[in-house]
Amino acid sequence: MQLTRLEVKGFKSFGDKITINFNAGITGIAGPNGCGKSNVVDAIRWVLGEQSTKMLRSEKMENIIFNGSKTRKPSQMAEVSLSFDNTKNILPTEFSQVTITRKLYRSGESEYRLNNVHCRLKDITDLFLDTGMGTDSYSIIELKMIEEIIANKEGSRRSLFEEASGISKYKLRKKQTFNKLKETELDLSRVDDLLFELE
Ligand code: ATP
Repeated sequence: MQLTRLEVKGFKSFGDKITINFNAGITGIAGPNGCGKSNVVDAIRWVLGEQSTKMLRSEKMENIIFNGSKTRKPSQMAEVSLSFDNTKNILPTEFSQVTITRKLYRSGESEYRLNNVHCRLKDITDLFLDTGMGTDSYSIIELKMIEEIIANKEGSRRSLFEEASGISKYKLRKKQTFNKLKETELDLSRVDDLLFELE
């Protein structure tokens, strides 16, 4: 799986649309302090479904929308698209080219798309689970994460290996199944109560 293109519009410092093509090899981004290098990484995190404003270095989600400059009006919407080459079928989908898109409007309305088809956040998270590319994975490594891994804070080293070995999705499914079981047990006890009242 290869990251091929990032398109950003109305996100943080990017009022105008920018396109970054990731060709084979290493792509580096250089520029003076405050020019928006980290905002590129934030855009990648965001489109992958990041929900934590802290991880996006923002106080509220609305603040990720371009808030204008001396010469430009604020944007009404942030939009980020990230494209992948999936010819090796690492992403569990029949598409050989995959583009995910996330939009956020000032009204608070948001939207996710998979190859331009409306989808849920869950569809995006499920697609990247155990590929190393999800929001919680090791594809985006910041300096503070290296410190956490070395110190093994909150079992961070273990979860890194779990993601790499592909068992994260089973752990998530187990948790979801246990939650469903709990809900079913509650429903059953409500049925018992009703039956008792009727008898
Ligand atoms: P450094 O090298 O110092 O880490 P950087 O190149 O990584 O800097 P970023 O942190 O990516 O820079 O970008 C910071 C810039 O983004 C600031 O100028 C800030 O005003 C701008 N910015 C952040 N959010 C928005 C927004 N919603 N609208 C407009 N500009 C924004």
